[in-house]
This record gives sequence, structure tokens and C-alpha cells, in this order.
Amino acid sequence: MIICEDCGQETADTPYCVRCGHRRGRAPVAAARRGFSANPTEAALSLRIISTIFPQLPRDEMRAFRWALLLGTAIVVVLGAVGAFPVALVAAAVLVPLVMVVYLYDVDIYEDEPLRIYVFTFVSGAILGALTGLVLRAAVHQNVLSGGYDATSIAVLGVAVPLVSGALMLIGPIVLLRYPRFNDMLDGATFGATAAAAFVGAQIIAQSIDLLRDGLFPTADRALWVARLLAQGVALPLIAGGAVGAACGALWLHYRAPSRDRSRLGRLGHPAVALASGGLLLVLAALSRLLLAEIPALIAQVILAAIALIWLRLVLHGGLIEESLEIPIGPDIICPNCGKATPFHTFCGECGVALRALPKARLRPAAAPDTSAPATPATGGGPEA
Ligand SMILES: [Zn+2]
Ligand SMILES: [Zn+2]
Repeated sequence: MIICEDCGQETADTPYCVRCGHRRGRAPVAAARRGFSANPTEAALSLRIISTIFPQLPRDEMRAFRWALLLGTAIVVVLGAVGAFPVALVAAAVLVPLVMVVYLYDVDIYEDEPLRIYVFTFVSGAILGALTGLVLRAAVHQNVLSGGYDATSIAVLGVAVPLVSGALMLIGPIVLLRYPRFNDMLDGATFGATAAAAFVGAQIIAQSIDLLRDGLFPTADRALWVARLLAQGVALPLIAGGAVGAACGALWLHYRAPSRDRSRLGRLGHPAVALASGGLLLVLAALSRLLLAEIPALIAQVILAAIALIWLRLVLHGGLIEESLEIPIGPDIICPNCGKATPFHTFCGECGVALRALPKARLRPAAAPDTSAPATPATGGGPEA
């Protein structure tokens, strides 16, 4: 064991520091300019959709998810442009939740009963979103994709509804917050983003039932409809997923992470600040939809989505660094990225990939040790492991 010149912590004698991912022998860099803890080849402070909402993907699989999201967005645009509005609306509503489900299935974060947990997170979000959509459909006599609201509606729909919706999105993740086995901050962020994306998709469909049934879509302004579809179907799930994911990451770090020093995330990581910021993002998204015309509303929502994703990324980054200080260096495993043996910790000592951000089920012990010792880090994460 030696001391890393960058993070000052004890690390293994390998090309990369297993705690901070620093390439040993290079000049130390300021913490803020280090690579993203879930993917050190990217900057921490940058706008990347895929590695932010899907932090536990191996590098080569990120490309497939990027294409899936781009292709889905293109399909929504084409369907809207040719006037197939009901199909385009459903496609827009299911796009992000569907990619999210594929991600959860692909990553398979826990080998034993992962399905129950993710079905619970996803379905609870979708049911609450559908109920919210049905209530709004009965109470509001304009559909979700058309404008023209009075001042009272704007106060209710622009402030109260998004805050209540945000609270409902948190219910599923908060149930899981009680379980000690989900003590990873990444778990919390994933639960939050999943529940929020499912909520938004189900709400859009439930609230638009009449629209889908009657097919009463004005056909004159197709470009404006495409803008509405992109704002509702792509930007809004990213805003909600980023905001609720970041808020859940902060909640996990505060209440779950066995942390001796919770100051690294600063005020941004305090649960009260995180919840208020998440609520503010949802309110601003709703207000921009109510008050602005289609194209400016889409631009505003894209900006809000960027802010939400960068915030989620900073929470993940700070949380992973913070957790990496807590965890003792584990037994050797085979790195799924480079195939070499490395001590189990936050980063691979040989290639620098973020091990904690890889699917846990894919981390295998380096040698077959005596079976009495729990050598696999599959359940690891906390210092008690
Ligand atoms: Zn280090
Ligand atoms: Zn490696």
C-alpha cells in the first residue's frame, strides 16, 4: 500500500489510484477539474445526458444508449411532422421511461431480486403519474398540450401541481431509503430518476386520453406540435429525472451513506436545499409551459433539463468521491473493462475505469478463493461490507 499524491489516501501500487482514479505519476489536479467519478474520461462539470442519467453503464454500451435516445427523438419528430399526433404523443411519452427500463434491465445492478425493486420503483411512479394525469384531466378543461390559461390556473398548474407531483415522485424512492442494502448513493439517484421518468410519461398519456380517443389534433401548425411533443416527452422527463434523481442522491448521501464527512457536496447536498431546488426546477418547467409560446417554452425546458442534468452529475460526482473515502480496499477482482486483476474499490487500478459505476453483477473475484470467505464485492458499497 502506498499514498496517492493526488487524494492523499492509501492506495494500491497500480498505474491508477483505486480511490480517486488519478493516473499516478501525473501532476495532481484540483478536485473540481478531475474526471467525472462515474466515467473519468469525461469532465465532471459538463453536460452529458447518457453518462449522467445512466452512470452505471460500461463505456462501450453508452454509445448504444445515446443512439437509442437520438433515434427515439427523431421518431417523435418525424411522427409529429407527418401529422400522426396520437402515435407521436404516445412515442414521446414512453421514450425516456422505455430507455430507462432497458438500462435497468441491462445493468441488472443486483443479481438477486433486482426485478422486484425496479418494478416497484417504476410502477409506483407510473401509477402515481397516471392518477395525477387523470385528476388533472377531470379538473382542467384544457389538455396538457394546449395553452390559454387564466391567472388562477397558472398559480395552481404552474406552482401547486408541480410541487405535489414532485412529492409524489419521491414516494417510491423514499420507501426504499429505509432498506440498508440500498446504501449506495448511486442507487438512490437511479431510483429517483426512474420513478420521475415513469411518472411524467404516465401522466402525459393519462391526461391526454381524450385527445388520443378523439384524435382532435389541429393540423395547421405541425412545427409547434413537434415543439410541444419534444418539450413534454423529452425535456420534461429529463428535468424531472435529473431533479428527483439529484434530490434522492442528496437524501441517500445524508441519511444512508455511513459518512463521517458529509460536507463535500456542500449546501447542494443538504436534503432541504436539494428538495427545494428540485421543486424549483419542476415549477419553472411548468410555468414555462403555461406562459410561453411553444418554441420559447421548448428552449426554456431544454435549458432547465441541462441545469437538472448538470446538478445530478455534480451530486453523483461528489457522492462517489465522498463514498470512496469511506470504503476499505477490497479483495482482487477482474476488471470488466480491461480484464486485469485489480483491488476492488472505486476505480480500476490498471485502466482507471470507475468500478463503482459498473453493474455490480459483472464484477467477478480474480481467483477462486476459499468459498467460506465472502470475496465477491457484489453486495459491497458500504464500509461494513
Ligand atoms: Zn488518489
Ligand atoms: Zn480495468
